[in-house]
Amino acid sequence: MLKETIKSIPEFFSTSLSGQDKTEFMILHNRINVVRLKITATAFIILEIIMLSVYFIVTKGDLLDHPDKTYGWMYISMLVVMSIFLLIFIHLGKNVVKHGFGINCSGILFSIFILAWCAGISLLDQLSNGQVIVYVVAIISIAVTPILHPFILFFMYIVIHTAFLVLLPRFQSSSELLFTNSINSTSFLVISWAISLMRYKRSVEEFKIKKILQVKSYELEQMNKELEATNLKLETLSQTDALTGVSNRLMFGKKMEAEWNRCKRYSIPLTLIFVDIDNFKTFNDLYGHLAGDQCIKQVANALSACAQRSFDMVSRYGGDEFVMVLPHLTKDDALILADQVKKRVEEAAVPHLNSAISDHVTVSLGVHTIIPSDETSIYEFIRRTDNALYKAKERRNCICSAP
Ligand code: GH3
Ligand code: MG
Repeated sequence: MLKETIKSIPEFFSTSLSGQDKTEFMILHNRINVVRLKITATAFIILEIIMLSVYFIVTKGDLLDHPDKTYGWMYISMLVVMSIFLLIFIHLGKNVVKHGFGINCSGILFSIFILAWCAGISLLDQLSNGQVIVYVVAIISIAVTPILHPFILFFMYIVIHTAFLVLLPRFQSSSELLFTNSINSTSFLVISWAISLMRYKRSVEEFKIKKILQVKSYELEQMNKELEATNLKLETLSQTDALTGVSNRLMFGKKMEAEWNRCKRYSIPLTLIFVDIDNFKTFNDLYGHLAGDQCIKQVANALSACAQRSFDMVSRYGGDEFVMVLPHLTKDDALILADQVKKRVEEAAVPHLNSAISDHVTVSLGVHTIIPSDETSIYEFIRRTDNALYKAKERRNCICSAP
């Protein structure tokens, strides 16, 4: 137990940060310190103006020739120095990152001055009321107002307090008061330093936690982005036919419903074209399934090339059968487009020596155009278009329009 406690002492005193973290920590502290120091300097200026006014009244205007004139000089010196420090802090505070070193040094000098000044007042007080309250308050204030590194504060306290203890007997003749004031001020000094050390350590810990949180939230953000990209890919994959890259049947269903409703609302014509490769079984038989896959892809490309408007859609309906959803086409335009599709497939000139009707791959098309209404349904629309294809299949390599 004792061993563990002894072991943990160096850890208790460690306030280490390194590299970029140290720089960021210093900037953060300088930012806080410069504001606190400005407020403290302003508070002292106001306090000293009040003290000087009171002193002026008490001494009946005899400010610097009064027997207690040292107090008057002390107040004036404090007022002047605080005004200078305030101007320095206002200037340095304009660019905390650039003036980091300046803020640090002026903060230390400011603390030393206040501590020394209050020690001086308390020494003067020994000649009258024997109090050390001003010095004690300064000890506590310096520990809690600016954020000073514990070691800097330690040396500051040691130097000024040693000087205070050495000078105290010259101002205090009562050995009883001498003893009490020495003990009291030293006790407050030790307690204040311990408080400052704990506050500093806590701010280091808080900074470390903040950094960890920053890293974690960045990682989380990255993961979310990756997840979003994966989701997008998955969504695209779930809507696409793997072989041809055109939409799959699921998407056809969705698109069909959306376009049906839209065209119905605005009384716009909607065209459906079913396309089926002729004698595809025998193509597979002759050239094999891999060549069959390539053929399906080429037909899909030909169809896509003919359906270029943003609202057109080509879907693989299944096997060697495709479907095209084409809003805003009149019946005549739909037939012209169907003819273009047929020609485009022929132009691809995919050899098919096993075909009963041509020496290259051909397609049959069933076309149907209507203005969707309550009198008919999607199901009926698809059924009629399919019937048209069925009719076209009787001759093959031709286009048949539904009545
Ligand atoms: P029809 O002229 O009447 O359309 O005759 P067909 O031989 O084309 O008959 P059908 O359309 O019924 O034949 C479809 C063939 O397509 C059957 C199947 O083996 C083949 N098939 C379906 N999907 C694929 C595929 O992904 N790749 C390949 N290579 N063949 C497929
Ligand atoms: Mg076929």
